[in-house]
Amino acid sequence: MSYDANNIFAKILRAEIPCHKVYEDEHTLAFMDVMPQADGHTLVIPKMPFRNLLDADPKALGSLMTTVHKVANAAKRAFGADGVLIQQFNEPAAGQTVFHLHVHVLPRHEGVPLRPHSGKMADHAVLAEHAARITAALAS
Ligand code: 5GP
Repeated sequence: MSYDANNIFAKILRAEIPCHKVYEDEHTLAFMDVMPQADGHTLVIPKMPFRNLLDADPKALGSLMTTVHKVANAAKRAFGADGVLIQQFNEPAAGQTVFHLHVHVLPRHEGVPLRPHSGKMADHAVLAEHAARITAALAS
């Protein structure tokens, strides 16, 4: 399986389509999932063109997980969550729908079920407000 440079996250990285960004550094970008399974559902991606974990250069995973760690702690604080679920899917059989490596960060509250994967598109004003909350938590 090869990398398709026209996947939606590659377009976000090239700023060809917008996203609600929460964090960016030299190697990674983090932004809100447009169909959040929980409030604060954030995606963290490497800037390198990897289809998923299976073809990724292991040397790029340190910076990716460092950003996941930062965003997970910030999202937990920003949403007063009880826990944080980290998910990562590889190939369609495992649930992958966008073919640029990404890690899901999902704040979880006791007793609150996840909404469906790739379910309902969120309101952009809500996503902007959620992104601002995580950005503020990252800065504090
Ligand atoms: P996967 O199943 O590949 O792990 O998850 C892809 C995720 O990307 C899904 O949770 C889906 O809601 C999200 N997604 C799909 N298209 C877009 C988009 O255009 N922008 C953003 N921010 N997220 C997207």
